[in-house]
Amino acid sequence: MRLASWNGRAVVVDAGGNLAVDVAKASDGRFGPDVQRVYDDWPAFVEWAGAGDLDLEQFGRPFRRADLQAPSPTPRQVFAIGLNYRDHADESGLAHPDIPPTFTKFVSCFAGPEGTLVLPAGTVDWEAELVVVIGRAARHVPAADAWSHVAGLTVGQDYSERSLQLAGPAPQFSLGKSHPGFAPQGPWLVTTDAIPDLDDLEVKCTVNGETVQSGRTGDMIFGVPELVAFLSSVVTLMPGDVVFTGTPAGVGAARSPQRFLRPGDVVHTTIAGLGSLRQTCVAK
Ligand code: ZN
Repeated sequence: MRLASWNGRAVVVDAGGNLAVDVAKASDGRFGPDVQRVYDDWPAFVEWAGAGDLDLEQFGRPFRRADLQAPSPTPRQVFAIGLNYRDHADESGLAHPDIPPTFTKFVSCFAGPEGTLVLPAGTVDWEAELVVVIGRAARHVPAADAWSHVAGLTVGQDYSERSLQLAGPAPQFSLGKSHPGFAPQGPWLVTTDAIPDLDDLEVKCTVNGETVQSGRTGDMIFGVPELVAFLSSVVTLMPGDVVFTGTPAGVGAARSPQRFLRPGDVVHTTIAGLGSLRQTCVAK
């Protein structure tokens, strides 16, 4: 199943990505209309949606991707993991971590899958990432049980303004990665049952059509089960919570010469089986 937020309302999207059915209307108000309410009642929603009451062909309406929000647009908590691919840690000149380096992206930087990215002053970089949305609360969950707490996966960009991110003496990861529009996600959540190989998905990023990142989530140092286990050993993960899982090699800051985003650049981020994002950079 594909779940999206369209003009603030939960919708189920057809396999072609063209038609959407309003969840609140189809369920006579039992679920939705906002997506957070769907995550808060996730097991019941999945059961209802799987019962076959949704006739996407008959009741689906066409939509524009530019009118979608992030699939979980108002989570209680947002986690982001740094240095989770060996090749990206290597290109950054940093050691492979023993535990997942964790920061946040403040939720005001969330955006939908398509639109403009207003470039703040400084050095703005790209980071294509797999994004996890939690479906059932998780506390001290072992890795072997972790997938049962995940609602699904989506595509994310962890846009990063490197000058602030790396300003010393204490780096400002969370702020440097939270300018408005710095966390586009989507186009929809794909539920875990609809993804053949949950632990090995191709991640790709292009800038103006040139491939800058090409990796596989199977190369993550800490896979999704390990991240859920680690995070839930410290905090309680809540339905709708979002986890950015880290980026593979190929970011602009690690290039020689370094390359950062400029007005007019078009960033396209794709994860096989999930979908893609598209932002056009504009001057502030
Ligand atoms: Zn990142």
